[in-house]
Amino acid sequence: MSKVLIIGAGGVGTVVAHKVAQHPDVFTEVMIASRTQSKCDAIVEAIGNPNIKTAKVDADNVDELVSLFSSFKPEIVINVALPYQDLTIMEACLKAGVNYLDTANYEPKDEAHFEYSWQWAYKKRFEEAGLTAILGCGFDPGVSGVYTAYAAKHHFDEIHYLDIVDCNAGNHHKAFATNFNPEINIREITQNGRYWEDGKWVTTSPLEFHKDLTYPNIGARDSYLLYHEELESLVKNFPTIKRARFWMTFGQEYLTHLRVIQNIGMASIEPINYNGMEIVPLQFLKAVLPNPQDLGENYEGETSIGCRIRGIKDGKECTYYVYNNCSHQEAYKETGMQGVSYTTGVPAMIGAMMFLKGLWKRPGVWNVEEFDPDPFMEALNMYGLPWHEVFNGDLEL
Ligand code: NDP
Repeated sequence: MSKVLIIGAGGVGTVVAHKVAQHPDVFTEVMIASRTQSKCDAIVEAIGNPNIKTAKVDADNVDELVSLFSSFKPEIVINVALPYQDLTIMEACLKAGVNYLDTANYEPKDEAHFEYSWQWAYKKRFEEAGLTAILGCGFDPGVSGVYTAYAAKHHFDEIHYLDIVDCNAGNHHKAFATNFNPEINIREITQNGRYWEDGKWVTTSPLEFHKDLTYPNIGARDSYLLYHEELESLVKNFPTIKRARFWMTFGQEYLTHLRVIQNIGMASIEPINYNGMEIVPLQFLKAVLPNPQDLGENYEGETSIGCRIRGIKDGKECTYYVYNNCSHQEAYKETGMQGVSYTTGVPAMIGAMMFLKGLWKRPGVWNVEEFDPDPFMEALNMYGLPWHEVFNGDLEL
């Protein structure tokens, strides 16, 4: 018996639920809980399996979570609500004796700032409780860390340079939309860039550095240096890394909209008073932007995410590029969601599967690259995110 509880019924939650439902041998009982129960019910209806249970829960409220965990008694919680809820859900897991997995690190609501320290601080308590917490198990963070661990295990004695490259070459035919939660997405992109070099962090202005990178089956795309959370754990877990960076593609149309949104104050997370009501401009913006979950039907093209790595093997310098391309339309056909939700939800399901099979079960709080990458890599090929390798090619970086 392996009961799993999915928290969050957005784009990623929908994909996780579809993928979990495809493996009843591993996930014998499933519940989806979120703030709006009707969204959980709609997912169950789309999957067509009435045995999947649903519930309403406010994941900001530890007591509510504990009472749900105590009645359903899941073995593991897959947290695909928002990063704001990570700590309350971890706290409730400790109280109710439940294992934990998420796809994004904790962020306080009133500060666009994310780092692992808040969640790493739970390590001892999870260890003492005999519970496993797996952090950042989407694509990036997630597969990006597993790719790096796989490269370190099989292809390098020392990794020296790591560049994570994330391209979305899809077209959703909207003037402006974000591919996942707009509030989280815009907070991430508008903050300073940051990368690791020679033992310290180097800060850049938002989107200051960019260059054309060539993506397989896509071609050249302007790619911008951003800070991304997995850099923090990867440079800690692979201390031979001299430089680690993260690049993401953006089109000019997207950047122009983003600039206007910032210039007119709509990206602000400072509450303002409007007609006697306190509102947060970015939250209001989220309410008027297209819902990322509705983009799938007309989304064409594909994503391409991978790791470009340079290092030493048997005394010789070598390069390695490992990546996945994911078609938005294929993702939509299978789950009703676009590729960005799909590439996040599939690894979350696989992470939970690794845990339930006992392959990634270790009391404490861990980032994905701290587990054996091999069974996870095998599962990526089997469950919808096949990967490809290029040895000793030009990394362009
Ligand atoms: P959505 O906004 O589509 O969905 C979030 C869901 O969480 C919604 O169903 C929402 O409820 C629910 N929720 C929000 N607050 C609460 C609460 N207090 N209690 C209970 N439920 C709550 O987001 P996505 O599906 O796009 O993203 C989900 C997660 O995945 C995010 O943390 C995101 O950062 C992460 N992510 C990770 C990626 C990776 O590669 N690692 C890539 C993309 C996303 P309601 O429907 O009522 O609003």
